[in-house]
Amino acid sequence: MRIAVISDIHGNLHALEAVLQAVDAAAPDEVWCLGDLVGYGPRPNECCAAVSARADLCLVGNHDLVVIGRGEVGIEEFNHDAAAAARWTRSVLADEAREYLSGLEPSAKRLDAELFHASPRDPVWDYVLSVEGGFDALALTEAPLVLVGHSHIALAISEQGGGIARHGASVDLAAGRWLLNPGSVGQPRDGDPRAAWLELDLDAGDARFHRVEYAIGETQAQMRAAALPPPLAARLSSGL
Ligand code: ZN
Repeated sequence: MRIAVISDIHGNLHALEAVLQAVDAAAPDEVWCLGDLVGYGPRPNECCAAVSARADLCLVGNHDLVVIGRGEVGIEEFNHDAAAAARWTRSVLADEAREYLSGLEPSAKRLDAELFHASPRDPVWDYVLSVEGGFDALALTEAPLVLVGHSHIALAISEQGGGIARHGASVDLAAGRWLLNPGSVGQPRDGDPRAAWLELDLDAGDARFHRVEYAIGETQAQMRAAALPPPLAARLSSGL
């Protein structure tokens, strides 16, 4: 069983299309998405449509929950720019996209994996950003493989340690239990501005991290046209 894992698309359709092209070329058996399809970016409806058409499993993220106004997450918990982008996204979100996001949960189990948008401790808000955070997440779960998104930083942490996973990094899944974060499709924050995805081969016991170039300038132009906060567009260039 080969699986493509994507996360944190954030309305960046150019990034998502570039990743899906690479995923199609790899021809996995399944595609899993760890949430945050919308928020920050200029094409929320198109991203929801593309993910709903392609993903076999999809989680909901904190940005998705704020945008659809689902009780457990309030917009007051967002910083100024994220809140402004969430309000804009609410104003343009189509019924189909709202319905799709409304039917999703922030955690799931599938095959050998436990999946969380954020972390096992709090599937919606908690950030796994350190090796200690990874150990904590592994201690709270039992599956051989734990997948999280939310931080926008590609990570590979085992019970022996680990850290940031760069383009081309591979992981021996048979060596122990792992926490993996594929990184972000639409708003990377680990210093590599390319769109991120993760390829799992559960039979071969192998995981491989990928980054894909996309038309960053075109997404930034769409964000300017939508009058989204300029810092959100600027950070796409640096991936920070
Ligand atoms: Zn996110």
